[in-house]
Amino acid sequence: MCPIGEYLPDPTEKIRSAKELPPPEIVQKRESRKSLGCPKCGRKCPRHQNKSRDFHDIGNPDTRRPRDVHLVFSQHYCAQCDIYFYPDLSSLVPPYSQYSLRVVDLAVHLVVEDGLPYGEASWNLWRDHRVWVPRGTVQNWVEASGKKGSDYVNGPYLDDVLREFSGYIAIDEVYDGPFCILVVVDNKKFHRLLVEVLDHSPDHSDIHRFLTRFREILIQRNLVVKGITTDGSPLYPEPLAVHFPGVPHQLCEFHVIKEINLAVLRALAQVRREIKKSIPKVKRGKAVGKREIKARRQKASLEKKITDLFENRYLLVQRTLSPQERKCLNRITRGYPVLQRFREIIDGVYSLFDRRCKLETGIKKLEALRTRVLRFQDVYTTLKKILSPNLEKALTFLDEKLLPSTSNGVERENRRFRKMQKSVYRVRTHQGITQRIALDMIRGVRFRRRPRIIGFLQEFRNG
Ligand SMILES: [Zn+2]
Repeated sequence: MCPIGEYLPDPTEKIRSAKELPPPEIVQKRESRKSLGCPKCGRKCPRHQNKSRDFHDIGNPDTRRPRDVHLVFSQHYCAQCDIYFYPDLSSLVPPYSQYSLRVVDLAVHLVVEDGLPYGEASWNLWRDHRVWVPRGTVQNWVEASGKKGSDYVNGPYLDDVLREFSGYIAIDEVYDGPFCILVVVDNKKFHRLLVEVLDHSPDHSDIHRFLTRFREILIQRNLVVKGITTDGSPLYPEPLAVHFPGVPHQLCEFHVIKEINLAVLRALAQVRREIKKSIPKVKRGKAVGKREIKARRQKASLEKKITDLFENRYLLVQRTLSPQERKCLNRITRGYPVLQRFREIIDGVYSLFDRRCKLETGIKKLEALRTRVLRFQDVYTTLKKILSPNLEKALTFLDEKLLPSTSNGVERENRRFRKMQKSVYRVRTHQGITQRIALDMIRGVRFRRRPRIIGFLQEFRNG
């Protein structure tokens, strides 16, 4: 039997008492010097005595047994300064820790990089590395590294990501319970630049403060913003005009299209409900009489219509249709001119966001589209959105050839945040969120280097 691909249990899952656990291997280590320079005066001081420490390390992968380290190290005494001191052990084991630095590193990676919840990370450490760390300890480690992370993010990290600043930014907000997280992202390089966690829903004054902070960061580095993308939220236009006057402001194309598509799909649902109401009632049992047979036939055909409309509802809003899909759409909307009109309007909306056009052409197309919408009462009531001035704002990118038309950069970061929200932390605090996001920002920058390393590995393997 080939064992590859078999899902085997961990050997320790079978044990029935703590006595059966694999006993740890003891590794002896020595950091004992004959003499060492005093950290205060620099005088060479001889060893006063030897001391020892025990801590847990990553287990032995061959024997699958845990490994404990017995470390012997020297204690030195400086008579001049009257202090005791030791050799530097920080690369081996953190002060007062029961675990080696390797274990701490591994645990933080499991949580931050792989997105494992604390409990899962704890089990992973035992299963794969034979070192038992309680989940609370993992949490403490991640929180401690988050504290360092948020310092890093406001210092060296900013220098790093702003060195390749594209000038195009996207701003957005994500809500998490009572908290709101404001984010500025480089909309071409997809780095998060600045994040602020608020403990209330933001208003204009919050956005003003946030933008002031961001502008100061840019001024210090002589950088300018060339274009800004946001969603359709009313929070942004006014503060943006104050802080970045004259900079083109684009509303995300996807958000605008999404709203219109949603309205159309809702209207389609309404049409289906109306068809359902018009289905004739038929009696049970064998059909008697011509009228009864006709009613049954009608009922079947209307029910099929409802199913067809439901199953192919995406055809009404899909951006491009193949000739087959077009044919299918024509077939299912036959007899419902309002649906056909919706499709025409949707085509019109998509053609607005055609990068080959100039803004002037786009605006003209929009005017024509609006006239067409106004002509039909039934279309107008569902598609009032087309009359909103947001649409003009979403066309800004037509004259700014480099301006991204969507706030995709910020959306993908938000998706990561929501995923993290689900898996990683239960207790949410202002500080906790700030720190976790900081760690995730660092991860984001490192993540980009990964394909390069994988490329090298591939190259090396192929010889
Ligand atoms: Zn000294």
